[in-house]
Amino acid sequence: MCPVVDLRSDTVTKPTDEMREFMENAEVGDDVFGEDPTINELQSYCAELFGKEQALYVPSGTMANQASLFAHTNPGDEIICEYSSHIFNNECGGPAVLSGVQLHPIRGEHGLFSADQISEAIRSPPNVHHPKSKVVALENTHNAGGGVIYPTETIQEISDVVHGKNLILHLDGARLMNAVVETGISAREYAGYFDSLTLCFSKGLGAPVGSIVAGSAEFIEQAHRARKIFGGGMRQAGIVAAGALFAIQNNVERLQDDHARAKRLALALDTFPAVSIEPDWVHTNIVIFDVVAEQMNATDLCNVLQNDEVLMLPLSENRVRAATNLMVSDTDIDYAIEKMENVLT
Ligand SMILES: *Cc1c(COP(=O)(O)O)cnc(C)c1O
Repeated sequence: MCPVVDLRSDTVTKPTDEMREFMENAEVGDDVFGEDPTINELQSYCAELFGKEQALYVPSGTMANQASLFAHTNPGDEIICEYSSHIFNNECGGPAVLSGVQLHPIRGEHGLFSADQISEAIRSPPNVHHPKSKVVALENTHNAGGGVIYPTETIQEISDVVHGKNLILHLDGARLMNAVVETGISAREYAGYFDSLTLCFSKGLGAPVGSIVAGSAEFIEQAHRARKIFGGGMRQAGIVAAGALFAIQNNVERLQDDHARAKRLALALDTFPAVSIEPDWVHTNIVIFDVVAEQMNATDLCNVLQNDEVLMLPLSENRVRAATNLMVSDTDIDYAIEKMENVLT
């Protein structure tokens, strides 16, 4: 058996035997004709889950966000997003390339905005010289913020500000189900604050491919068009969508185990003098910490750990990310902690 403990990301999971079997037996059809029964089932399941009129299966989380922005905007519009958000940093400038819009990033605390920040950032009243503020995008849980969860009171306040100014509120909910499981607040309640949202099946949920976009029928019609423009119309894709359907129906509750393991890792790291970490900000499955040793930076640590078959992701000079996932067990976490203790104390 392969002993590697891969904590670089929650995207490194491989489909389990059960998931593969479900995928193998999936009914398929031409989804560009709307005739793939598995995709149709996944889309209705997610629309229902989020309490939205419709949902659309797309190949990636990036396409889910980009198709949403395309659907919501006209060239020259402005999107308010967070400085360390995925939309701003990890989608290759897609909003400029694909939708001709500009991003207006502002920095939140651990990736989280306050309603006042949003209120200040919205350009109002409209001015002929200014880009038009059109969409506000939140991320929940916030990846670069360390998997942190947005308090619903804050989302409510932001939603009031955004909708009060007739703007659109979009959620990059790549890891929304992590927030759902951790807080007990339903996906439907979270989704209710937003005009559109996305969710990734290929993160902690453990499916090999795909994301969902959800919103009103009118919005989904535009997002569907965007998916086609971006080259994301797929044919007998039910075979991969089955992995997503399996994931959303079977792998949600178990995210709790990932969270418990992340917390345990964070608390152990907090005892090492060479590590700086805020365990209270470890809400879900992502652990972000700084290496504060003189002789070692983030890359050095990750290289040394790699020799012990523990993989983590250096994010910057001193910052490291570890994400628990479907392939990492309690014993794996014990092993990772032991190896890190050897290196860091
Ligand atoms: C992973 C991720 C995405 C989408 O990524 P893809 O790799 O394109 O599927 C979007 N937003 C966040 C916050 C993510 O972590």
